Amino acid sequence: MLANIRYWENLAKENAFAIPHFNVWNAEMLMGVIDAAEELKAPVIISFGTGFVGNTVFENFCWMMESMAKDATVPVITHWDHGRSMEIIKNAYTHGMNSVMRDASALPFDENIAEVKEAVDYFHPLGVPVEAELGHVGNETIYEEALASYAYTDPAQAAEFVAQTGCDSLAVAIGNVHGHYSAEPKLNFDVIEQCRDAVDVPLVLHGASGISDADIQKAIACGIAKINIHTELCDAASEAIKAHADASFLELERAVRAAVKARAMHKIQLFGDADKAHLRQV
Ligand SMILES: [Zn+2]
Repeated sequence: MLANIRYWENLAKENAFAIPHFNVWNAEMLMGVIDAAEELKAPVIISFGTGFVGNTVFENFCWMMESMAKDATVPVITHWDHGRSMEIIKNAYTHGMNSVMRDASALPFDENIAEVKEAVDYFHPLGVPVEAELGHVGNETIYEEALASYAYTDPAQAAEFVAQTGCDSLAVAIGNVHGHYSAEPKLNFDVIEQCRDAVDVPLVLHGASGISDADIQKAIACGIAKINIHTELCDAASEAIKAHADASFLELERAVRAAVKARAMHKIQLFGDADKAHLRQV
């Protein structure tokens, strides 16, 4: 069933678990994630973004995402990740996504506020929650170099940012990066706690693939309520392909789906999201 991200993020925030956000951009990933959610009776977010349009045509694939979300027996949110413009997230909305992220975190503070506020003013009357990012979670790079000039979220700015934009959730930069970590991630948990105390909205952790289970649990205990996973689903798929290199394509596809399911199940359990579907809105 389709679900509201605002409800689930706030429920997670109040109950010290995290709702998982899985990037999916082909049928095997989408079906693997839904399989995991069904088996563990877990609410999940399925998400697409601009980085995947070279692999899959969103304007076609979106209907499979929406159809599977509607048919699932568990709550499923359809989300657009890292929307870089109003045009992009409007297109996501008209193609079935019921939640969007407006990411202007690469812009100066005042411009980030203006861009997110424009998105909030447009989408709230439509009933669509808006995620924003403050500080900047960069892309895959040399991790030590990224940390040397890292834009951590400023908790004092976070309060002003949320108040001025009206965003529904806030992605924080705490030493996390997208893609593979080239060294052990060093998360600043104090920043999470200070942001949690500074704002009322749920906090989001991007770039969570490759962060240890212990650090994920600590991040949730400090106040993270939504966690984004992409790279680890890709790793699981790649490992399955290598292990089944001699299999037929039909068998290989099933192996990829099963591997994605297994990795998603691990994350759902780690995040405390298993068996939460019965808490759905009625
Ligand atoms: Zn991200």
